[in-house]
Formats: sequence, C-alpha cells, structure tokens
Amino acid sequence: MRMKKIVIVVGTRPEVIKLAPVYLELKKNKKFNPILISTGQHKEMVNEMFKWFGVKEDYNLNLMQKNQALPELTARVLDKTYKLFSKIKPDLVIVEGDTASVMSASLAAFYLKIPVAHVEAGLRTNDIYNPFPEEMSRRMVSHLASIHFAPTKLAVINLNKENISKNVYMTGNTVIDALQYTVRKINKSLKSLKGKDLPDFKKYRFILVTMHRRENLGKVHSDIAKTLLKIINKFPDTVILLPLHKNPKVRDVIRPILKKHKRVFLTEPLGYVPFVYAMKNSYLILTDSGGVQEEAPSLGKPVLVLRTTTERPEGVNVGSAKLVGIDPNKIFYEASKLLADRNSYNKMAKVKNPYGDGKAAKKIVRIISKLFTS
Ligand code: UDP
Repeated sequence: MRMKKIVIVVGTRPEVIKLAPVYLELKKNKKFNPILISTGQHKEMVNEMFKWFGVKEDYNLNLMQKNQALPELTARVLDKTYKLFSKIKPDLVIVEGDTASVMSASLAAFYLKIPVAHVEAGLRTNDIYNPFPEEMSRRMVSHLASIHFAPTKLAVINLNKENISKNVYMTGNTVIDALQYTVRKINKSLKSLKGKDLPDFKKYRFILVTMHRRENLGKVHSDIAKTLLKIINKFPDTVILLPLHKNPKVRDVIRPILKKHKRVFLTEPLGYVPFVYAMKNSYLILTDSGGVQEEAPSLGKPVLVLRTTTERPEGVNVGSAKLVGIDPNKIFYEASKLLADRNSYNKMAKVKNPYGDGKAAKKIVRIISKLFTS
C-alpha cells in the first residue's frame, strides 16, 4: 500500500510545540510520510523548537514580514499553501490551534478538497473579538476541518453545540506530551540549560510573567506593568522574570515602566527549554498565554490569567488557574493573596492538570491510522 502523505503546517512557536509530538509519532509509523511545512511566521523561535524536538522542515514559505497586517498575512498564507498543496497533493493536512495562518492553510486545503485534521479543536470563549482574531480563526477552522482532535470534554461539547459531531475525538492536549518530553530531557542536563539572564531561583520566590495578546496592547499592558511594580515592592523576597514578546507594540510599552527595577528581569523571549525550566522554578505565573495556562498545572504552579475571557476554563474550573482579568486592583489583590497566604497557594498548586496525560499524539496517530488505512 502507498504511504499516505500527511502535511503538517506550523508557523508559530506554540504550533511547533503542539505538533512536534504528532509529527514524531507519524514518522514512527511506516504507513505515513509526514511532510512538515513551516510558514516562516516566527522564524528564530521555530527553528530552535525544531532543533529541540529533532524535527526538520521540508518546506519553508518565508512569509514573515515586519508589521504585517492581518489581511495581508491571511491572503499570503492562503495563496502560498494553496500552490504548495497543489504540488504535494497530500492525503491529509494537519493544523493546530487558532492563528490567522492556520485558518488560511485550512481554507487552501478545503479549496483543493483535501481533508483537514484540526488539533486542539473546540476551544471557545464565545466572544468573537476576544481573543482577536483567534476566536474567529478557530471557529472557521472547525467548519473547514473534517477531523477534530478535541483536548477535553468541554471542547467536544463546544463542537457539538455547533453541530460538529462527526469525527470528533477527545485526545488530551499534545502540549502535555511536549512538556513531559522536555522535562525529562531537562532533568538530564539541568546545568547547561539554566541560561545566563535568569535570576538566582534559590534566593527569591519568583514570579514568571508573559503578555502578548493583541486585545491587551497599549493601556492594558501599561496598567499591568504598573501593577507588577506594586506587587514586587510589596514583597521584597520576590523577583519578576518577564520574557518580552518580539512584538514592538508589546515591548515598547512594558519596558520603560519596568526596566529600572533591580528585581525585574526583562529578557528576550526565552527558548522553550529555558522557559520550561523557568516555569518549573517559579513560584507563581501571571500570563495571558494559552499554552502556559495548560502547562503550569502539570508543573504544580498556580496561574493568574491576565485576560477577561479564556477558552481554557478547565484550569479555572478545577482550581489551578484564576481568571483575574485586566483590572489592576484585582490582579494586585489576587497576586498578593497567593504570595502572602500559604493555604490559598497550596490549594491552587496541588490541583491535577486537566489538559491531558501526555499520550495525545499517540491517540491522534492511532485514529488517523484507522481512518486512513483501514
Ligand atoms: N514559551 C516559550 N518562551 C517564552 C514564552 C513562552 O517557549 O518566552 C512557550 C510556552 O512554554 C508555551 C508556548 O510558548 O508552550 C506559548 O506560546 P505563546 O504564549 O506565544 O502562545 P499561545 O499559547 O498564547 O498561543
């Protein structure tokens, strides 16, 4: 029997983290010929990820341009992936998540009547402008795709509510597969991974912060940065580690407010491995990131989510995360509570991760194998 050609499209750091385990699992299976296409959106960050997971791109679309507007990116990904899919003629296209480029690549496959499998399907905030444009991108992908790998029960329910019930499978989130792989490797080579820029984790309790959401750009980021200063001044045994996102609209607002404080470490985006190391050694995490919300409970770290909505309410429901929103007073109050009150802290830290068991990629490939080769 001919090997099935499976194209995997990635563009951003979280997409590589979440699809590398699927790619590696497909590679082990003789029935499949996985072909990795990188859109080139997050160039350096993605290359570092490829290296860590030991995967190699087959094609790079080089789509990265400075300050590229959404319509332009959407159109360019659509055009380039359409042309490449026409040439490769895959049996299946796999995408993950919710970026504009994931939506475009799925549309290109749809125009060619190539089936699309969506990993991490069914996440919803039910507010089409929050997060923007991700909520709309993932909804559109759900309607373009014909196989849906939902990470949780809630994600399955969300899909069913939109009348999507055929080929919906609950698999867990592959982010946990990637995290477990990474933690195992880190434990083997701890010293070399520590990174020069990082503070001495033993001397302080440290608060890891990430912020990059488009809908929080500007005033919200500036308010949060000022609140971080208040928190760190109240607790002299804490440091803040904040890897700044590459987007100048993020860093140009945050940096001036925080750069002078000697217990605030503003770094370039950390490589995934130092970042996991930092999460493992942190006391508390404040973030607007999706992936970090999923990873933190596996490492026993409480998360305060700096957003007004989340498509990952599972963490909030089981008590490992709190949706603190963007109100400075609320953020200050909740962070102070966790830093001052050991009981509140332990309650959040001891919760079991609700996002997966580290075997999602195996399940996904087993299902694809059943659907495509039997
Ligand atoms: N991450 C990283 N370095 C950083 C910040 C985050 O490697 O400096 C990782 C993190 O572990 C997670 C992923 O990047 O797996 C999340 O990416 P991001 O927050 O950019 O996107 P989102 O998950 O919100 O789509």
